[in-house]
Order: sequence, then C-alpha cells, then structure tokens
Amino acid sequence: MLHYQLSYWERDSFFRDIDVAIIGSGIVGLSAAIHLKEQAPKLKVVVLERGPLPIGASTRNAGFACFGSISELLDDLQHSSLDEVLQLVEKRYRGLQKLRSRYQDTTIGYEALGGYEVFRPTDQTLFEECADKLAHLNEALSLITGSDTYKHQDDQIEAQGLAGVQHLILNQKEGQLHTGKLMHTLLRRAQELEIHCLCGITVTGLDPIGDSVQISTDHGWTINTSRALIATNGFAAHLLPELEVKPARNQVLITKPIPGLSLKGCFHYDRGYVYFRNVGDRILLGGGRNLNPQGEETDVFGYTEQVQNYLLQILAEHIAPAQSTEVDYWWSGIMGVGQQKKPIIDWVNPRTVAAVRLGGMGVALGTEAGEQAAGLLLEG
Ligand SMILES: Cc1cc2nc3c(=O)[nH]c(=O)nc-3n(C[C@H](O)[C@H](O)[C@H](O)COP(=O)(O)OP(=O)(O)OC[C@H]3O[C@@H](n4cnc5c(N)ncnc54)[C@H](O)[C@@H]3O)c2cc1C
Repeated sequence: MLHYQLSYWERDSFFRDIDVAIIGSGIVGLSAAIHLKEQAPKLKVVVLERGPLPIGASTRNAGFACFGSISELLDDLQHSSLDEVLQLVEKRYRGLQKLRSRYQDTTIGYEALGGYEVFRPTDQTLFEECADKLAHLNEALSLITGSDTYKHQDDQIEAQGLAGVQHLILNQKEGQLHTGKLMHTLLRRAQELEIHCLCGITVTGLDPIGDSVQISTDHGWTINTSRALIATNGFAAHLLPELEVKPARNQVLITKPIPGLSLKGCFHYDRGYVYFRNVGDRILLGGGRNLNPQGEETDVFGYTEQVQNYLLQILAEHIAPAQSTEVDYWWSGIMGVGQQKKPIIDWVNPRTVAAVRLGGMGVALGTEAGEQAAGLLLEG
C-alpha cells in the first residue's frame, strides 16, 4: 500500500473532530452508524471500510430471513435451556420484524416464501426427533410468533422439483430478501444522515491515547476519534485477537436463469451446513464448509474443488435433477463464528466497543446488534 501524508484539506474536512469512527460497513457497522445519528444528529460519525464496498458477509450472503430451523433448535437445546433457546429465537424474530418495519418489504426485496428443512433418507433419525418435538416447539414458539411456526410439508417435495428428499418441515414464518437491496438501502439511509462512509481504508490498529483513540491505517496516516466501534465480524482477529471469533468461509454459486423453475423459498440441507433458495428464476446454493472445517476456517476469499464438487452434486442430484442447470458464477464470503451463538457486543477498552461474531443469522441480528453497540457508545 502506498504511504503518503494527508493534505491539510483532507484532514480538515474528512478527519477532524470525529465523535465516533466505525470500522466495517456491513449490516452491523451501518446499523450502528444510522442509530447513532438518529439518536444524536450532531455527532460526526465516520465509517471506515477496507473494500471498495462492504466485502465481508453482508453483501455476499444468501439472504435468508431466518430465525431457526427445527433441527437447529433441537441442537441448541442439547447445550442450553428452553428459556435460553427461546430468548435467542425471540431476538432473531424481533430483529427481522424490526428490519422489515424500518425499511419496508418492497425496498429490501422481502418475500414471505418460508424456510424449509430438508431431510434425506439418511436423515431419518434426525427427522423422527424433529417430528417428535414439532408440536412442543410450536407451542413454545407461539408466544413469540403468534401461531404455529413449523409444519410438515412432504407434499411440497415434488412440487418444488426436489429429488432424493424424504421429508420437508416448513418454518412458515421465515422469508427471504434481496441482500444487495438491503445493503443499498442502509447505505442510502447513511448518506441521508450525512454519515461519512470512506472506503478503501484498512484499519491496522487502535490505540487509546488520552481521551481519544488513535486509529492507524494501511495508508500510513492515523485518524483520531473520541470513540470507536469495531464491526469487522469474521475479520475481528486482526484487531481483537483476544476475542473468541473465528472466520468461516462459505462458497456460493448462482445458476443462470432456469426456465420454468419450480423451486420457491429457502432450504436448509444437512443441518444447515448447505443452503439453497431461488433468486427469481435462478438457484443460489452455498455452504459445505463442514467437509473441511479447518481449511474453511480462513478469512481469505477463495474456492476449493472439494466444496465446489460437493455443491454441484447436490444441485444435480437433489435440487434440480429434472432441469438443465448451468452455473453462472461463484463467490465466497466470510462469516464470524464461535462456540457460542451469541454476538459479542461489549467494550474492549475504555473508548472502543466491539460488535462481532454474528454467525449465520446476521440478517436477523445485525440491526439490533448495531443499535445495541451504538447504545453503549452513547451511554459511555
Ligand atoms: C456466504 C454467506 C451466506 C450467509 N447467509 C446468510 C443468510 O442467508 N442469512 C443470514 O441471516 N445470515 C447469513 N450469513 C451471515 C450474515 O451475512 C452475517 O452474519 C452478517 O452479514 C454480518 O454482518 P457484519 O456487519 O457483522 O459483518 P460483515 O458484513 O462481514 O462486515 C464487516 C466489514 O468489515 C470490513 N473490515 C474487516 N476488517 C477491516 C479493517 N481492518 N478495516 C476496515 N474494514 C474492515 C469488511 O470488509 C466488511 O465489509 C451469511 C454469511 C455468508 C458469508
């Protein structure tokens, strides 16, 4: 990276008197910035992003507006009490409702097409456990979602064009959105509020000095701010190696348009390690990091033949066996995960808050996580 001095004009207009600098312009960073300016319009809020646009998970995800497939909740119940699991579900469910009421369904491309869990013949034992607990979970979740959440939907297997699938359980309250439209909407709102989003700046360090924080950048110059928020999710280890956040790369493909595609909705396959959905008349398919957990514990974008071949096989054998599909292109994205499913939202030094580890539910949790982090900064 080229090192150079900032001019007087650059310092004076872009970097003077910053009240809050936010590192990372994903859902969390932008939601925090927006909340700060809505609560305290006089604050000077600057967002620093290393990419030409947000390049972590928020612009590269699958757009599932999900809050928990039935097997995921059963798995959670192995380690947590029912109350704890319900609290997590409620947070996600309310998070989605907040997102939708804030930005409107048409603006973010939200469609209430449901979220299906796919059970193959080899998943029979898991299916039986889920079927056994379905009524119990519906009753427990009805306090949150208002009515039955899960329902058997085997009659949809053929209608959706699936093959080699034994059972489907539908989460009727889930939906899908257009990830790009959501991020565009957040950036537009940030602009309206005169939040400065500066791209192409990688933050390399933060040092509390006196009553401010000095931020070092890959350009060689530093920026001073009264307070900072680190919202770098799967890249957190670069700035906060002490936190329990690991990167998890996900490889994703999108097909070319498929005439007469019958698939509609979001699908969780192999306990959610693989996910697919329709995007109009295309199929988006991603995941499979469990094939090589160590190899995919990386924050470097890229692909492996192993995962790509696995996803292609699922596409051909299970998702669209009767249709001719052609992959248009691939991409990858980086999640931030940990042993615990909860995000970390806390002070990491007297002037800096971190809001990281959003896992695979950032669409549902991101707005609230950003707002919670902004709340800490406003109080502190
Ligand atoms: C392929 C994939 C599919 C997913 N599918 C879904 C889904 O369907 N539904 C769902 O709810 N969730 C999904 N997720 C998870 C969801 O996308 C994330 O939880 C959410 O986007 C996290 O938002 P964030 O703002 O915390 O992080 P990010 O969006 O990762 O934002 C962090 C930002 O920080 C920037 N950054 C990093 N380091 C620095 C630095 N040193 N200096 C400056 N900038 C920096 C990055 O470039 C990035 O833009 C998926 C994730 C992936 C990768």
